[in-house]
Amino acid sequence: MESSAERLRRVVAAYEQHVNPGLSRLMDFMGFGVIEERAEGCWVYDHEGNAYLDFLGGFGVYALGHNPRVVADAVRAQLKRMPMSSRLMYNQPQAELAALLAEITPGDLQYSFFCNSGAEAVEGALKLVRLHHHSRSEDRPKIVTTLEAFHGKTLGALSVSGREKYRVPFAPLIPGVVHVPYGDADALAAAVDADTAAVILEPVQGEAGVVVPPEGYLRAARAACDAAGAKLIFDEVQTGFGRTGHLWGCDHDGVAPDVMTLAKALGGGVMPLGAFVATAELWECMAPNPLIHSSTWGGNPLACAAGLAAVRAIVEQDLAGRAAERGAQLMEGIRSLREQYPGLIADIRGRGLLVGVEFVDEDVAGLAIAKLASERVLVAYTLNNPTVMRLEPPLVVSAGEVEHALGVIQRAVAETADLVAALAGG
Ligand code: PLP
Repeated sequence: MESSAERLRRVVAAYEQHVNPGLSRLMDFMGFGVIEERAEGCWVYDHEGNAYLDFLGGFGVYALGHNPRVVADAVRAQLKRMPMSSRLMYNQPQAELAALLAEITPGDLQYSFFCNSGAEAVEGALKLVRLHHHSRSEDRPKIVTTLEAFHGKTLGALSVSGREKYRVPFAPLIPGVVHVPYGDADALAAAVDADTAAVILEPVQGEAGVVVPPEGYLRAARAACDAAGAKLIFDEVQTGFGRTGHLWGCDHDGVAPDVMTLAKALGGGVMPLGAFVATAELWECMAPNPLIHSSTWGGNPLACAAGLAAVRAIVEQDLAGRAAERGAQLMEGIRSLREQYPGLIADIRGRGLLVGVEFVDEDVAGLAIAKLASERVLVAYTLNNPTVMRLEPPLVVSAGEVEHALGVIQRAVAETADLVAALAGG
């Protein structure tokens, strides 16, 4: 029989020869060069049975933890009946999920289009605002977004994202995109004009390094859009479904967008599922040709059954409230780190269970992440700012699990400080 070491070698070789050798090197470097075997709640188990506490949460996917029974059961039941749609008849799980989203999203958001990822949701949202303006014979070529934003890696989503490292190799991107500094309401207002189709914003910038905007920023964006006749898109792919301590990231500012993009936690950690949700006014342009935007797998019954079960559970279990409570515990525990290690930690910030620890540079962040990996706590840096280690556990994380992670983080930072001092010394 194949030993576990042989199995690992075989998987690594397949990564190197058939997936991407760079990815395999990156996993090894970060200390996660093992095979993930199974997962439950906040824990992931490797091929040798070692348990890892998941403080990355699949970049925000696992609001309900790994493999939540309520979602898996709903998917199994749908699987028995009919996994995929005929695409000609009414699809009940899709209809019910769209109605539920209309009920729980803010403002007048009413119609949903389902897709398979966050980037696809952003693509759809951008197309929708363009179609809306064109249907009114308005020529608005401009889209305003923010520096360091992350909206996905398909061409349109990348065009409104902010990190040059990911953008430049794919130029030319879609034209007419203007980037302004995040959190600066005056810069945003100055950029939004009669040529602007839409402004797209994350209520808290996730991949930029967990950047929380000043109070009133989202309201100011709403006002700037209304004054110019532009539409407002909130990308809640990462901040949605309770992550920030409210059901929606935009609830902190008490403001609603014209279009909201969703994914990650929407599929309950069991199925890939994304959506863009918009007002009836915006959706008018979709009715004359209902196939103007479509997707073979988008809204499939399996994914929507997962979404329905997941969204109901997130609301019923008040996971937003839990995120606020555990987020406060986590923040309280790490806040002192900055005073303890001022030469190592530049900032600590976040909202709910979306928390960022900013180190003084990328190498120090890498060392700290590797230390956490060696103690079997899963964390990662933010994609558009590798100096920031994100803490983003499932929203069902217990107080004991937060305590455990805090102990490991304290140790990891202390050991990183010793290592940095030793390297500096000689
Ligand atoms: N929008 C935001 C705010 C995100 O954080 C992400 C992914 O991290 C995306 C869009 C892209 O989602 P996906 O990776 O599912 O395409």
